[in-house]
Amino acid sequence: MTLSVIVVGLGAMGSAVAFHLARRGVRVLGLDRFTPPHPFGSSHGESRIIREAYFEHPAYVPLVQRAYELWQEMEILSGESLLRITGGVLLGAPESEMIAGALRSAQIHSLAHEVLTASEVRKRFPALHPPETFIAVYEPRAGVLRPEACVAAHLRMAGRYGAALHFEEPVREWRADGDGVEVVTDRGRYSADRMVWCLGAWLPTWLPAAPLWVERQVMFWFCPARDAEHFTPDRCPIYIVEFAPGDFFYGFPELGKGVKVARHHGGTRCAPETVQRVVGEEEVEAMRGLLQRFLPGLDGPFMRAEVCLYTNAPDGHFLLDRHPEHPQVLVVSPCSGHGFKFSSAIGELVAEAVRNDAIRYDRTIFGWRW
Ligand SMILES: Cc1cc2nc3c(=O)[nH]c(=O)nc-3n(C[C@H](O)[C@H](O)[C@H](O)COP(=O)(O)OP(=O)(O)OC[C@H]3O[C@@H](n4cnc5c(N)ncnc54)[C@H](O)[C@@H]3O)c2cc1C
Repeated sequence: MTLSVIVVGLGAMGSAVAFHLARRGVRVLGLDRFTPPHPFGSSHGESRIIREAYFEHPAYVPLVQRAYELWQEMEILSGESLLRITGGVLLGAPESEMIAGALRSAQIHSLAHEVLTASEVRKRFPALHPPETFIAVYEPRAGVLRPEACVAAHLRMAGRYGAALHFEEPVREWRADGDGVEVVTDRGRYSADRMVWCLGAWLPTWLPAAPLWVERQVMFWFCPARDAEHFTPDRCPIYIVEFAPGDFFYGFPELGKGVKVARHHGGTRCAPETVQRVVGEEEVEAMRGLLQRFLPGLDGPFMRAEVCLYTNAPDGHFLLDRHPEHPQVLVVSPCSGHGFKFSSAIGELVAEAVRNDAIRYDRTIFGWRW
């Protein structure tokens, strides 16, 4: 009999899981409480960075390399433009976590990269003004994904391969039913052989014993004050700045509606239902302070801000494993604020895991570790 799978949550991870399962002939029911892509979770805001010299751990590199292939394949399948290569600059002190980690990954995996001095960065990418004490790792393959278009493409293609996708239908209850599962929504009761949880920021309430937490993050869009041509995608790569040990901000070139910049972490603990979605003036001014130091040309009019949610594991890595008590349930995410780029490859990995009842991945960054 054909294997049947319920995917709960159809954001970045769930849309990719649904697509890869449906493509393999699995009977898929996908359920989401909203209509993805939507702005209430973790997968909105016009742009996501993809990069290869992964400073967080070299074990991510093969996965991101597979993700690149799958994003490009999805562009062909869907006819949508999803990925734009701009190159990427990681800026920090030579001994910083990010610079040291990126060089380690680049060396272990023989990745194309250059090490630049601060003055070389200023000359080559005039939007960026690092201090003399900083150096940069430049990676030519880094770029920008369009998150809403990526989620929409995965969902559309999942539907084309026969997945049943129900939006505005939150799962209210679930239970293990022998080897299978049963879920209850306001519209019905469904059973299947397997279930995959792709719940993003809603996961901690489903797994209260796990030490996961949700963090409020703000994305800001500013208008260049001068030299707007320095911010166009052909002159300006994506950038991440470790401005103090363990403190990061990142940004993009101008993609049509202003230049997006944001802090990485440093947000307050929150829950998706009650998070403060209004952004205060002091938050805008704190971001502007960083721009004045590192991208002074961007100290122009503030355009808008949006709140987004990170779901964090204590060590900043991912969780992708079987439910501790119910092996027929796979838990996919959290991704500690850096998972989007991998979602195409995670969808494939999860689909294979579900079909073969075997998970093959590096447990140092994906398995239960607590
Ligand atoms: C500001 C910001 C910037 C980021 N930048 C980057 C970046 O540059 N590069 C990168 O790789 N990653 C980045 N990330 C991380 C990345 O975007 C996330 O890891 C990823 O989007 C998480 O996807 P998800 O599928 O886990 O969550 P989501 O996409 O939020 O999906 C979860 C889904 O579950 C649904 N759901 C919840 N409860 C239920 C229920 N009971 N029943 C049915 N459905 C339910 C929700 O409606 C939602 O659609 C960033 C994240 C943020 C917030």
